[in-house]
Amino acid sequence: MDRLKGKVAVITGGSHGIGAAAVTRMVEEGAAVAILDCLDDEGNALVKKLSGEGHQVAYWHCDVGDEENVKTAINEAADKFGHIDVLVNNAGISGPNKPTHELTEEEWDLVQRVNVKGVFFCTKHVIPHMKKAGRGSIINMSSIYGLVSAPDIPPYHASKGAVRLMTKTDAMLYAPDNIRANSIHPGFIWTPMVEGHLKTTGDDLDAAKQATAGLHPLGHMGEPDDIAWGVVFLASEESKFMTGSELVIDGGYTAH
Ligand code: NAP
Repeated sequence: MDRLKGKVAVITGGSHGIGAAAVTRMVEEGAAVAILDCLDDEGNALVKKLSGEGHQVAYWHCDVGDEENVKTAINEAADKFGHIDVLVNNAGISGPNKPTHELTEEEWDLVQRVNVKGVFFCTKHVIPHMKKAGRGSIINMSSIYGLVSAPDIPPYHASKGAVRLMTKTDAMLYAPDNIRANSIHPGFIWTPMVEGHLKTTGDDLDAAKQATAGLHPLGHMGEPDDIAWGVVFLASEESKFMTGSELVIDGGYTAH
């Protein structure tokens, strides 16, 4: 119940999918949580539900690709909750599913703007708060697509590979400040993002779901809570000797 008692977490993309599950598990474990997202209705509805249950949680409209948005939201969250010692860089988009030679520069840049620059901006503006708090845990949502290849969504692969290594660099840079950084690498988790991605692969969504499930040795896709519990672990003191690590939660996808 109290694995995160006294901690204040900022999570991007927390309005639905994996992010919303992580918000829910973090507040249940005692953290105060600031949700930064562009999906205002879903974000505010989640805040209403969780605060109605007595949890400390608030929502900021924030495009993670906009530095001023990020800076304002993070500073206001620190003012509201007193400090920040956890950052979950979860916001992400899959982008267009085209082969490399058909992609436009705009399509490429859009994915890097959210998935890579967003992680940079949030980390940049949260670090001063973590230094002030004297501790921190940065949790970056990479992917199995940041570890191994597949013949699809090239900008997404590039972005998640970047996030994997940004994590290790920040782990080295900020270890002297008692700030840890680790990445999480989910397999396919059934969320609106995956539903949107599978719809781009053909007409038969059920067949695509079945084929995707079959890529995991455990025989099915994951659910958002499978990742949310990894977030709780990395945010908590249970993982205090972990930094620069990759937490792979993928039903065995990368074990081939
Ligand atoms: P999701 O259901 O689409 O949720 C992502 C959230 O991020 C949405 O609320 C989305 O809002 C928000 N977001 C997108 N662009 C944003 C921006 N510029 N600023 C702020 N928020 C923004 O996705 P998910 O499946 O839960 O994925 C969460 C993370 O896990 C992503 O980083 C994803 O790459 C990673 N991941 C997912 C899977 C999977 O199988 N689901 C596997 C590996 C890794 P909008 O809906 O308005 O865009």
